[in-house]
Amino acid sequence: MSWLQRLFDAFTAPSPPSMTIVEIEVRTYGRKTSLALSKFESLRASKKLCDLDFVFPMGTKKKIQPRSGGTWPTVDLYEQTCTCERFTNESTHAPRGSPKRFCRHLLVYLAHELGDAAPILSGMAEDGYSRAHSAIFEIYAGDQLLCWAGVPDSDAPFMSVYAHGRRKNDSQPPGTGNVRSYRLSMSGDRWAYGEAPYGAATIKLALAGLGIWSGGKLI
Ligand SMILES: [Zn+2]
Repeated sequence: MSWLQRLFDAFTAPSPPSMTIVEIEVRTYGRKTSLALSKFESLRASKKLCDLDFVFPMGTKKKIQPRSGGTWPTVDLYEQTCTCERFTNESTHAPRGSPKRFCRHLLVYLAHELGDAAPILSGMAEDGYSRAHSAIFEIYAGDQLLCWAGVPDSDAPFMSVYAHGRRKNDSQPPGTGNVRSYRLSMSGDRWAYGEAPYGAATIKLALAGLGIWSGGKLI
């Protein structure tokens, strides 16, 4: 490719998704905030749309064992399709890379192929709720990836948070364990099944500051 072509491509390439950066100041003055800060006095949080439009060579196909038994559907990573009933009935028209496109079989195969290159996929595969999301954002605290947030369609009771689990030697979030899925109430301040991710207070603060979640109250 010539330098002129490269220059042309650089100018015509689509711009990366815009980053929303918020500076969150929380003043406590000895009073309790419902979003307690563990470490930060102020948090510089940002979000970026998570790109799930992975590109694979033509013919990257595999039969995947379904959780409920029965016939094994065929997943095609090049086409981003699956032959299971749910995909056929609900996902065929969802755009490539949209969370609504990914049945569990697609997620399991993608997670297997991409591994640590896309750690969120194992969390999404574990979360039977991920197809309810209209978008998934990467949430950063400063330059560090804090978690992923699955934003549901309006009026859904929960959103999903995908975050690295805590390992024994982790001294501060984010952890270094596998990505797990958690659900945060959209209207209240609680985690489903009482299971909160490592760094939950910081995560909630970032989500509230970025306008993704409003269940907590900041004073
Ligand atoms: Zn499927």
